[in-house]
Amino acid sequence: MTGYPETEMCKRCEGECCRLQPGHCLPSEFESAAAVRAAVESGKYTIILLLDSHIMARVVRPHYKDPGQRTGCTFLHENGCELPLPARPYGCRMLRPRERDGEHCKPEGVSIEEAGRMWEQSGYLPPIWKCL
Ligand code: SF4
Ligand code: SF4
Repeated sequence: MTGYPETEMCKRCEGECCRLQPGHCLPSEFESAAAVRAAVESGKYTIILLLDSHIMARVVRPHYKDPGQRTGCTFLHENGCELPLPARPYGCRMLRPRERDGEHCKPEGVSIEEAGRMWEQSGYLPPIWKCL
């Protein structure tokens, strides 16, 4: 499944999810460690660290629109996401938009924590001490 395209609800809420945090990528969206490095060096993607008592793992996802505040997604523009649906990160594609006001949009599939474990096992990231 490619994922959920924007709905009329998404247009009305003007990308609330994208204005908060970018969705997570999976290693399978990149072909190699070199591809990940090139994506990060382009400034369009970044590596974040999930760190609490249950997990210490990194995830690649689009860079923030506002890196100082750590909010928003660099690919979000006035008219929505600049990426076509198949090119969007897994976490973006798998967020099922709510159907009615007052409901929650539902993340489906591989969670960000599971993605973090996949990234750590992928061999596509530099040693973790370089990111700390
Ligand atoms: S998925 Fe939900 S939060 Fe994101 S744009 Fe659509 S309705 Fe808004
Ligand atoms: S890549 Fe697109 S869909 Fe995903 S958070 Fe950024 S603007 Fe939203």
